[in-house]
Amino acid sequence: MRWKGNSRVLLMAAIVFVFLIPPATAQDHDEAGARIVGHAAADGWSAAFLEKLCDSVGARVTGTPQSQAAAELIFKALRDAGYQPRFEEYELKTAWRRGAAAARIVSPVDAPLLLGSYGWAPGTPGQIEAVVVDLGRATALNRSQDAASVKGAAVLVDVNAIGTEPSQVVRAAIAQQLARAGAAAMLIPSDKPHRMLYTSGYGFYPRAPLPILSVAMEDTLLLRRLLAKGAVKISLDVRNNFGPAARERNVVAELVGKNPKELVILGAHFDSWDYAQGANDNGAGVAAILDAARILKLVGTRPGSTIRFVFFSGEEQGNLGSQAYISSHGDEIAAIWAFIIVDSGAETPLGFISIAREDVVAPLRKTLQPLATLGAEKVRAEAVMDSDDAAFAMAGVPAFRLDVEAGDYEDRHHTIVDTFERVDPRALAANTAVTALAALLIANAPERPGRHLSSAEVAELLKKTGLESASQMLAGERNP
Ligand SMILES: [Zn+2]
Repeated sequence: MRWKGNSRVLLMAAIVFVFLIPPATAQDHDEAGARIVGHAAADGWSAAFLEKLCDSVGARVTGTPQSQAAAELIFKALRDAGYQPRFEEYELKTAWRRGAAAARIVSPVDAPLLLGSYGWAPGTPGQIEAVVVDLGRATALNRSQDAASVKGAAVLVDVNAIGTEPSQVVRAAIAQQLARAGAAAMLIPSDKPHRMLYTSGYGFYPRAPLPILSVAMEDTLLLRRLLAKGAVKISLDVRNNFGPAARERNVVAELVGKNPKELVILGAHFDSWDYAQGANDNGAGVAAILDAARILKLVGTRPGSTIRFVFFSGEEQGNLGSQAYISSHGDEIAAIWAFIIVDSGAETPLGFISIAREDVVAPLRKTLQPLATLGAEKVRAEAVMDSDDAAFAMAGVPAFRLDVEAGDYEDRHHTIVDTFERVDPRALAANTAVTALAALLIANAPERPGRHLSSAEVAELLKKTGLESASQMLAGERNP
């Protein structure tokens, strides 16, 4: 485990705060802040909750009993903290279960081939054999040349960082083109180290048009060395299952403010992928927000605006839970001062990222200045559209995400090593403290960090920042 500079400062600060400041004197704002930091670092609650979530529930794929169990664990934790939580249901169009995925190279050599399915993708019709066609970094299928050659083939396509569109948009578009051309499967080289596979469902829910398979990088290199010398044939046997429509749930609770109708929302998705425990993505975010809720209640602070906590399912299928939240809270959307998501893993916090909007950066920076003692006062804008903050940004709400040091998040993301013991409890405590303080500072600020954008302004912003296709995909408006 690496040493985290800011976490060390936080821990030392916490020890001072917790033991030197008696709770009875914590009346003013500064003392409330000190107590929040102290409880986050000293109680060990977030790490204990994360361990329970990971080891007693485990992977939480949307639509599974484990997802239901996670929602209940969150509900209970909120109730134990003194809240009156509620479930908010929405419909999941299709459920999906991963089955076994077996593959071999059958010619020109007999060799194992390590691959695994993307989410919400079908399996193969039993065991099949297919020639491998390599399209490399193609951004689209060239109809005249490629369409005939991919019929019945397992087609390798590098979809990471090509072209100007986000990779999940390119990936979904090429999958549709390959299916129409009659390809047997789409093979996507994994960009993870140590022969690890990747999985995702963005752009594929409610059903991918053909088997989509992550192939280990080392195995991809072998396939390409063999292809350089001649034809390559593989066998594939992938057994996924789709289920009928199902109900899914978000979990919601709130700390009522002096202006109860004004809202600051903290959110985290609790669903995960199934290769491991979903510890960093996004058990860590859930643990941080839940602990923030627990501590804000514990210190007895009454915020200016109401602070609402929302735990989403369905994020991994394309922000289903957060989009359902937006659809069912239409009349309240205008009252949201800010939405903050924690979904970047437990690493040392740096500040907050505004989703594509520059105009909210300076006002939020001013409000969050007190976070400078924790090194987490930085605010910047970035054009990203890959988590639940997108649903709020698309509705015109000033939407932010906790920004953290990169760490090894990308290597662990959606792989077999997204496991509990790799999460640093000190970084998790720092995330908890920073998120709780940020919510309180915004809720107590004299004015909002920014106005709401009209739908025309949102459309213009998405176009200007290159997020138009990604937002259309999430909204289900894109038919590649
Ligand atoms: Zn996530």
